[in-house]
Amino acid sequence: RSTAPAIPGVVGSSLSVPLVTGERVEYANLDHAASAPCLEQVRDAVDELLPWYASVHRGAGFASQVSTRVYEQARDSVRRFVNARSTEAVVFTRNTTDALNLLARSLPRHTSVVLFDAEHHAALLPWRGPNVRRIATPSSAEAAVAVLDRELASCPVGPRLVVVTGASNVTGEVWPVAELAKVARRHGARIALDAAQFAPHRPVDVRALDVDYTVFSGHKVYAPFGSGVLVGRSDWLQAAEPYLVGGGATKLVTDHGDRLGVAWSAVPERHEAGSPNVVGVHALAVACDVLGRHWEQTVEHERVLLARLRAGLATIPGLSELSLFGADHDRVGVVSFTISGHDAGYVAAALSAEHGIGVRDGAFCAHVAVTRLLDEAGAHEQRALRASLGLGSTEDHVDRLVAALRSLVAEGPKWSYVQRDGRWVP
Ligand code: PMP
Repeated sequence: RSTAPAIPGVVGSSLSVPLVTGERVEYANLDHAASAPCLEQVRDAVDELLPWYASVHRGAGFASQVSTRVYEQARDSVRRFVNARSTEAVVFTRNTTDALNLLARSLPRHTSVVLFDAEHHAALLPWRGPNVRRIATPSSAEAAVAVLDRELASCPVGPRLVVVTGASNVTGEVWPVAELAKVARRHGARIALDAAQFAPHRPVDVRALDVDYTVFSGHKVYAPFGSGVLVGRSDWLQAAEPYLVGGGATKLVTDHGDRLGVAWSAVPERHEAGSPNVVGVHALAVACDVLGRHWEQTVEHERVLLARLRAGLATIPGLSELSLFGADHDRVGVVSFTISGHDAGYVAAALSAEHGIGVRDGAFCAHVAVTRLLDEAGAHEQRALRASLGLGSTEDHVDRLVAALRSLVAEGPKWSYVQRDGRWVP
């Protein structure tokens, strides 16, 4: 069975939620791509640390020593999780968005940045200026490699950075990262991997992929909110102004009357000003350790559930899956779809209110990609639905979603829904 006990457990797996009728049902969380539930082992590790957390690096007290050790060990866990090279910096951030903004602020002047337009806004928006080249995402992974090659060939001389996602947060499709990295190398470009959506589902091996920077978020790899990471080459980060200024980013501040003299810290502290999120970083690190020990079971669990989900969705009249690279392309447990004649907002509201099922609706912070995919599919709908799987998902959740969609399409919702503040409510 796909739900063999060998997969790591998550908290809240038997939560019940109220339906609009007042009845309660077990919550079917099919929104792992937005945020994954916390692993039981992460909860326990956080619980153990809570009495001890204190400010890192700056305190001599026992709790500070404990926190400093936990914080620095977390860098080793992240390093192992992505198989980072020993020379690479591990900088803790708030999330993926923060990590990509840090990288964007650390680029040498006149760096050409090349990316595909199907990216999540976190990867699409931080790069500014005339040297940003946005490539229209082609309809196959092979074409993406070829078009990147052409684009890089026409970039001006100077530093170059390619930004690419590991797996699309819209379609779950896996990008040909190793092939894109090969092309980047050939043109002397560096490559940054947005692993926010890939890291929860498949092992990231930065050496095998040959990428220079990797970013991901704790809350998508089964830790709570508030921690993320940028792993990568330290030279640009070391040459850049600190991302935030304040305590921790400084080695020495001296008073010169009309000005202050500041000696900034080296990376990673250079970009980690202020009291760091020790508990969040520990949670992220423990999640990395646990996932890293359970890849085989995790990947198999999701493979079985994804096949079941897609087969079930294929039986719903009028339902079309969104796809960048074609239905057979490799994907993680994320599926977006439209149902002809049914607004995604009301479907999502009805799934929640009448069935206790949580999915996402909208454009998933990837407006360019979703608009294009809906246009290409000839959909009249402006928004899509997304069901996403992970360690908290079961066959029962998948079957309930398929049955609920079938009844919504065949009979319509049992309640009427009105729009309030942009949301549909019963
Ligand atoms: N990139 C991708 C591919 C994502 O799926 C997300 C989250 N939806 C992000 C970046 C941004 O992550 P965060 O909100 O944790 O910063």
